[in-house]
Amino acid sequence: MPSYHVLSIEIPYGDAVTAIHPVLIQDDQDLVLVDCGYPGDLKRIEAALAAIGLTGDQLTRLVITHHDYDHMGAAASFKRKYPHLLVATSEGEAPYVSGEQPSARLVQAMDLQRSLPASEQERGLAFIEMLKGMETVPVDESLQNGERLSWGGGCEVIATPGHTPGHISLYLTEQSVLITGDAAVIEGGELVVANPQYTLDLGSAKESLAKLLAYDADAYICYHGGVYSKR
Ligand SMILES: [Zn+2]
Repeated sequence: MPSYHVLSIEIPYGDAVTAIHPVLIQDDQDLVLVDCGYPGDLKRIEAALAAIGLTGDQLTRLVITHHDYDHMGAAASFKRKYPHLLVATSEGEAPYVSGEQPSARLVQAMDLQRSLPASEQERGLAFIEMLKGMETVPVDESLQNGERLSWGGGCEVIATPGHTPGHISLYLTEQSVLITGDAAVIEGGELVVANPQYTLDLGSAKESLAKLLAYDADAYICYHGGVYSKR
């Protein structure tokens, strides 16, 4: 029975708690995890799987929508614990995910650091160190724009560049559900471009958001913000 599950992983953030939303796509053959949290989040995600009666051993694939510390931070620990897990991402993100190239986010943070006021230098440096320390993971499968997969009864890969160059989103055709990654977040009850100040190419990010909205999906699952449904 094809289905999907939206996980809600609570992450302590300073004195507050923030939530991220990896998604599981399930069918008779596959259990696909889409994005996997910050470094150290393996156990949090395992607990969320257990809460719905699933285990990490059942996962067949890990899809990484884009290279970013909050989306693939735990990817290497997943692969170590579950070596059978196939890691999939777009061709554009693969060199960053696998560590062949320094991540665009790191290059951006190092550029920004030079212009930070003295009071923010320390925080900026800590962020750079965190990015440098993030483990990369070998990529097993490369996903193409427009590719149709059998996951969850039908899943289309949509290139949604902007936030990062090779960012992808997934459309579950049977359920009319769009997994946006960071191509859209919910703010004030609307779908908008995520963190414009950290978006690597704002023009393409806006085009990508428009592309997603044109699907007119029944639900949009945002990694940051959860489920958006206008119906
Ligand atoms: Zn994110």
